[in-house]
Amino acid sequence: MKNITVYLDLDGVLVNWLQATLTLLDLDYSDTDLQQKIKNDYNYLDELVGIPNLKKTLNLAGSEFWKNLDFLPWGRNLVKAISAKYPTCFLTSPGLFAEAAKGKMQWQQKHFPDIPIIICRHKNWVAGPNKYLIDDDEGQTTRFALEGGRSWLWPQQFNLLTDEQKVVTEINSVLADLDSFQRNWLVDYTKLVG
Ligand SMILES: [Mg+2]
Repeated sequence: MKNITVYLDLDGVLVNWLQATLTLLDLDYSDTDLQQKIKNDYNYLDELVGIPNLKKTLNLAGSEFWKNLDFLPWGRNLVKAISAKYPTCFLTSPGLFAEAAKGKMQWQQKHFPDIPIIICRHKNWVAGPNKYLIDDDEGQTTRFALEGGRSWLWPQQFNLLTDEQKVVTEINSVLADLDSFQRNWLVDYTKLVG
């Protein structure tokens, strides 16, 4: 395929999983001390509440929890900006949550029925020389790049929520990087197929 494909992560990039989850756990999303700890450590919440407790709480909330997650302020714009230029697909992990796959499918049907979705815990499995992942989990972006794709580590949401200009810059930077990735891919593709 002459075009690259862009994979867009959902939680933390497009939708506010964190706010909905903290609310369910009776934790204060606006607590700046908690925000700072989450900013510094991607797995802080897992350690704070314990994975069994997190699993139990989210499983009880059912697929509706995932279906009804709110967009982050830039979420819709990011989907539009990317999908207007490149074949785009949601690529999201269900984590350890039994209801997540169903709820994420429902979310996609509700908001973007024309954009395909892949639900896969290990995103590197769908990496390739013309595949580009935008994700806020450094473990995912690192493994994806290691297996031949290109990735963009999206900033932790608390680093963007207070600064609208930063969001604009981030979206423009990712679009510029995509353009360069597409150009390079065309050169490689032409070499391969003549
Ligand atoms: Mg994420």
